[in-house]
Formats: sequence, structure tokens, C-alpha cells
Amino acid sequence: MPLTAKRRAGLTWRTLLPWVVGALPVIGGLAVMNWQIEREMQASSQATTRQVVAHVERILDNLASAADALLPLAGSPCQQAKLRLRAEVTRNAFVRSTNLVRHNTLYCSSLFGDFDEPVNAGDYADGKLWLMDGNSVTPGHPLLVYRVSKGDQGAISTVDGEHLLTALRLIGPDEVLQLRVGNAWLGKDGIVRQGQPPAAAKANVQFGSTRYPFSVQGGYGSDRQGQLWRSHYPALFGLLLVLGTVSALVCRWQIRRITSPRAELRRALEADEFLPYFQPVVRKGDYRWAGAEVLMRWNHPQEGLVRPDLFIPYAEHSGQIVAMTRALMTHTAQSLAPYVGLLDDGFHIGINITADHCRDFSLLDDCRTFLQHFPPGRVVLTLELTERKLIEATPVTLELFEKLDAMGVKIALDDFGTGQSSLNYLRQFKVDYLKIDQSFVAMIGGDALSVHILDTIIELSAKLGLGIVAEGVETEAQRDYLARHHVDYQQGYLYARPMPAAAFLEALAAHASASRLPQAAPPEIMRG
Ligand code: C2E
Ligand code: CA
Ligand code: CA
Repeated sequence: MPLTAKRRAGLTWRTLLPWVVGALPVIGGLAVMNWQIEREMQASSQATTRQVVAHVERILDNLASAADALLPLAGSPCQQAKLRLRAEVTRNAFVRSTNLVRHNTLYCSSLFGDFDEPVNAGDYADGKLWLMDGNSVTPGHPLLVYRVSKGDQGAISTVDGEHLLTALRLIGPDEVLQLRVGNAWLGKDGIVRQGQPPAAAKANVQFGSTRYPFSVQGGYGSDRQGQLWRSHYPALFGLLLVLGTVSALVCRWQIRRITSPRAELRRALEADEFLPYFQPVVRKGDYRWAGAEVLMRWNHPQEGLVRPDLFIPYAEHSGQIVAMTRALMTHTAQSLAPYVGLLDDGFHIGINITADHCRDFSLLDDCRTFLQHFPPGRVVLTLELTERKLIEATPVTLELFEKLDAMGVKIALDDFGTGQSSLNYLRQFKVDYLKIDQSFVAMIGGDALSVHILDTIIELSAKLGLGIVAEGVETEAQRDYLARHHVDYQQGYLYARPMPAAAFLEALAAHASASRLPQAAPPEIMRG
């Protein structure tokens, strides 16, 4: 229901809110899913890294078992010991070679028998473990060496780096995994590097063995999160989009419902925002105020004073016009009743009524209640029926109009001449007054044909014995013309604009004692 002629620019909460409500489940769902993925990556990275640690420990148990068994032989001649060295290689699945050390020299090897190579205890983490990038037998091929010593004698066992790589690659095919021993580390590419291994982009974890001096660092590359999104959640993401769309639509429907013209009018009715404005009707001759038309105004909290043609059509369409008219009549009666002394006897109060109000007899009660506010005969209630929305002549309406007539309520045919069934109306219902539409009054001073139409309406009403009211009188020329043609009543800005009750009563008091030619009233301030 547009209450102003101007369209409001920019975004309003009504357009923004459905978007926000629609986006919330999508954003919330994505955040939860992302959190879930990160948790999943963290848990699986921890589990994988622990498994690798356990597997490398099992390999080292093999190496330790071989080296421990050989330690008592350290120092004995290689010829005697070498068969035992080879036996340990055969017995332990992961052991590639075994060696004996004396005076910091590797003097006996399972591969070559007698040997001569210096051993530096400082190469070994905790004196026990050394990750090598190769030796003289297999240069450039990773090798993990285990050492036990007693005094200056010791035993050394080695495992091929291939076993370590297999563990890294098979246990965590999707993870970034690195085995770290001392200052050296081995990645899945099989190259031993020195220094700190780089942290994984996602879910980086590190576990150290409690039994051997090594640790395993695990985690995921930066693309893993995207892969999981693509593989796990397309269906759920689709569901979120559907949920978001449904939420937005429900929100938009709710907003439309609560801000619909019907809801807005109901709210305004409950908040008592519909007010009566009064426009005097003057009689011919002395131009005394013989009555007033009650015109509805909506005192809207945001829009200010709203003129009726912007909301009456919605009120008629939604069936709320009857309740609104009833409230207006109550307001009118309460405003005027305390000042009834200012009103001439038989002062006409014109109320605009729609066809919907004439469907049953409730209108009778409304009129009776209205009249009860005033001493009998002091006020004449006139119902103004527009011929734009027709009342059907049913048994109920005919009886209603008879009863209204018996009660002394008068009927005025509003906007006379603008509809097509004016004459039908006059035949079917007992009408007391005709209100000549302002478009005809505006023709005064115009071309001969237009003025002829006005003259014909005036003559017709005289012949039918009806009172006649001319609306929309704005100029003295119109006033004088209508006076010359014996029009009974005049109404228009020339006399007064519609005004609120307080101003009307004040003006009424000023006019009550004397009849005089009127001055134009100050303009009515209104939106629209
Ligand atoms: P209407 O019943 O024909 O009322 C006369 C309209 O002409 C009023 O407009 C009034 O302010 C305006 N008017 C009076 N004198 C002059 C004048 O000299 N020059 C011009 N240009 N206009 C003049 P308003 O108040 O805006 O009402 C418009 C219409 O809204 C009314 O036309 C009536 O059809 C409807 N309306 C107003 N109040 C009610 C109501 O309580 N119930 C119903 N159902 N309709 C109402
Ligand atoms: Ca009217
Ligand atoms: Ca009218």
C-alpha cells in the first residue's frame, strides 16, 4: 500500500532481511562443515603419525635385538664373529647389515667381513640412531643405523631406508609425513635432508618415540581441505542452498504478511490512527454552516497525515472499511458531543459509507449509537453513498434504507453524475440529497456545453424534489453562479478546507453567532 506518491530509494530492511536470513543457514552450515573437516584432518593426521611412530619402533626393535645380541662379540676377531653377524641379518627381517666396533672403528661387517671405517659417536642421536643419506655400499640411498656400545666396543645394525619410505607412503598416502632423527629428516621423496622439516600446511602434528630418539611429523598439504570439500560435501552443500532459499522465501512471505496492507490497516485501527477531519457545508442565502462532511485521515506514525484515496481502496478491498467507519463515527460523536451547543438545530453530519456497510443491519446500530450521543433533533446524520461502488437493491438493503429513513437518517448520493447508474439509484432508494461532483462545479466559467450539463443536474434535482449540495467550490464566481441557480448547499476550499476536530470546533464557535461571507481557510497539511 504506497502511502506516498514518491518511491523510496535504496535498500530497506524488507529487501535486505530475506537475504540475511537466507545467507545465515548457508554461512552457518559452511562454518560447521569446515570445522568438521578440520577436526577430521586433525584426528586422522594424529592417528597416522602415531601409526608411523609405532611401525618405526617395530623396525628399530629388530635392529636393537640384533645389535644387543652381537654386543658381547665386539672385540673378538672378525673371522670368528662374521657368521654370527650374518645369522642376525637373516634372523631379523628388517636388518640389512650388522657390524662390530672396536676403538671407534668399524672392524667387522656382515657384508664384507674385515673392514676398517672410523665411527663417530657424535653422528648418532643420543649415541644410538643415525639417519644417513647413504654409505659406501649404497650411496645416495637412505639408511637408518642403530648403535649399542659398551666402553669403546659396540655393535651396529642398519635398516634400508626403503622400509621407512614404505611405512611413510603406505600408512599415510594422503599425508605429508617426515621421519626426524637428530638434525636429519627423511621425507616421502626418499631424500635425507639436514635441519628442521617444514611444518605441514594443515593439521600439523609431531610425535616422538618414547623408546628411541626419533620423531615423526605429519599433516596435510594446503589442497587437502578443498579435496575433502569436493569429495564429502557436495550433497550437503546443495541441501544448505535449498535450506537458505527456503528460509529466505519464508522470511519474505512473513514480511509481506506482517507488512501487508491488511495487517498494516489492522494495526492502525488498533492504534486508533484514523481521525475525523471536518469540512463545513454552507447553506444558500446566509452562508451559515449548516453541516459538515466527515473525511477520514490516517495519522500514520512514519508517513504523517495520509489522505484517504491512498488507503480507502485497500480498506474496502480487505473488508476493513466497515470497522474503520465505525471507529470514525465513534470518534466524531465523542469529539462533537461535548460542544453540541455550538451546532445549529438539525446540523448535518455527513459520513461516507461504502456498499459493504449496507449488507446487513449493523449499520442501523452504528447510526443509532452515533445519534445517542446528541440530544434528539440536534444533529441530522447523513450517509454519503458513492455511486462508484454500487449498492444492490436486495430485500435486506431496501429494508435497511426504510429503517434508516424511519430513524431520521438522510441519504446523500455522492459524486453525482460520475457513475453510470445515478438514475437507477434514485429510482430504487429513497435519496434525500444529491452531491454534485466537483468536476461539474469546476466547469463553471467554462464552455457552454459543460455548463449546460451542470444546469441539467441542478434542474433534475429540483424536479425530483431533492436537496442539492455542490462540492469543490473554490472561487467566488462558482459560489455566485451556484447561488443564482438556487443550489441549497455549497462545500469547498472557498469556505474551509477539511480540518481536525479542535480547529473545526474553534471555527464553528466563531461562525456560530453570525452568518457572513466566508474567508478561505488556511491550507490543510497532508502527505500524498
Ligand atoms: P468525497 O466524499 O467526494 O470528499 C470530497 C473530497 O473533496 C475530499 O477529499 C475533500 O477534501 C475534497 N475537497 C473539498 N473541497 C474541495 C475543493 O474546493 N477543491 C478540491 N480540489 N477538493 C475539495 P478527501 O478528503 O481527500 O477525500 C477523498 C475521498 O475519500 C472522498 O471523496 C471519499 O470518497 C473518500 N473518503 C474520505 N473519507 C472517507 C470515509 O470516512 N469513508 C469512506 N468510505 N470514504 C472516505
Ligand atoms: Ca463524500
Ligand atoms: Ca464527492
